[in-house]
Amino acid sequence: ILGANIPFNDNIFPSLPPLLHGHPDVHLRNGVMNAYSLAATHDPDAERAFFVADLSQVYRQHLRWQACLPEIQPFYAVKCNPDPYVLRLLAALGTGFDCASNGEISQVLDLGVDPSRIVFANPCKAVSFVRNAGRVGVDLMTFDNADELYKIARAHPGAQLVVRILTDDTKSLCALGVKFGAPLVTVPGLLAKAKELNLNVVGVSFHVGSGCYDPSVYTDAIVRAGAAFDMGTEAGYQFSLLDVGGGFEDALFEQAATFLTAAIAAHFPDRRGIKIIAEPGRFYVSKAFSLAVNIIARRAPLTEAPSLAQDTSLDQPSVMYYINDGVYGAFNCIMFDHQTAHPYVLSMGGSFHVMDSEPVASSSVWGPTCDSIDCVCPSTPLPSALRVGDWLGFDNMGAYTLCAASQFNGFEVGKVIYTTGGFHASEVRSALARFAAQGHGL
Ligand code: PLP
Repeated sequence: ILGANIPFNDNIFPSLPPLLHGHPDVHLRNGVMNAYSLAATHDPDAERAFFVADLSQVYRQHLRWQACLPEIQPFYAVKCNPDPYVLRLLAALGTGFDCASNGEISQVLDLGVDPSRIVFANPCKAVSFVRNAGRVGVDLMTFDNADELYKIARAHPGAQLVVRILTDDTKSLCALGVKFGAPLVTVPGLLAKAKELNLNVVGVSFHVGSGCYDPSVYTDAIVRAGAAFDMGTEAGYQFSLLDVGGGFEDALFEQAATFLTAAIAAHFPDRRGIKIIAEPGRFYVSKAFSLAVNIIARRAPLTEAPSLAQDTSLDQPSVMYYINDGVYGAFNCIMFDHQTAHPYVLSMGGSFHVMDSEPVASSSVWGPTCDSIDCVCPSTPLPSALRVGDWLGFDNMGAYTLCAASQFNGFEVGKVIYTTGGFHASEVRSALARFAAQGHGL
């Protein structure tokens, strides 16, 4: 539909039973199953792990964002998942982009995105990166320390600076405050230094930590940002940008939006002339990617004791499954992003119809490398009849997975099969087609 080389596979969805079609989770799960069945049909030896990316899920999150936070422009955090089709879709939908490095800036600019849609949101940048940002027209960038100001004064004196303040990050999976964020007491000194260096500070940013599970922390963060705005006025600046960072969890998004909206209304009553942006990452992509893995090996007692059947109470898993992705690959999210993996059976003995009544055994699931740290799931009930060659699925694999995967032990990262999905498929297609029509290649 969109051009010759696009690895889209919309055949994944039409075979869904119409009744299930409206349910997003079932829809995604069936997408993985159907992709697997297509792959297996074309290649009976197919066993490589693969992702199914449902771009309509990314689009749906964007609609949710617009409905709940219409005043806040999302600048997608590229680091979370720099997948080219995700970036193209978001570029077509008009979001901005939060980049952490030269590499991410180039990737976004190469899509034809205007540099004014980028915030260089890494408060500690190499001088050469700052210089490059100036060269390519990326002016908006964060800082949280005086040395950064000296660097910017030398390498990109025309930058528009955003002071990143420290806020409470104790209610998040990944606390960022140990590394970044200026405590409020240091902000007047930093702003005075910026003035002295003739730099233009335009606003304030914060990040409550990635994967925030108590969205009430946004309220305190906004209070602090309001105080930092006052400090700006005292230092002789007129701030015009508030960047509320990332941290948005799918299940708590509406709550987070409510806290943010109320706090902004209370502490920024006069918003004339103030632009508000955010840097959501996982909110946009987490649910959009599912992963299918093949069971490549299994270690089980030679004679299966009858007591294993139906036994989920054993502390010590009795069956070990080895799959073809692990913590050195996409499951690095277990190490770096504090996630837990929840496998489900995609196919058993070539059949998709796995009954809930199947006898189960307490099992562990391991990655393919020769390292014993490579454990995907230390204990989970799985059907006793599961064998080498069967497939497992994992949902919510879109955030901080592929982007940080290594090829340790020579294992390749799974390829991605894209779909525009059942929901909003036509809107997704037309957004991408619009993008292509503007001269940006797909
Ligand atoms: N912005 C910055 C500066 C970050 O460091 C991160 C994540 O580490 C994000 C945005 C995205 O956060 P999240 O994926 O929790 O929305």
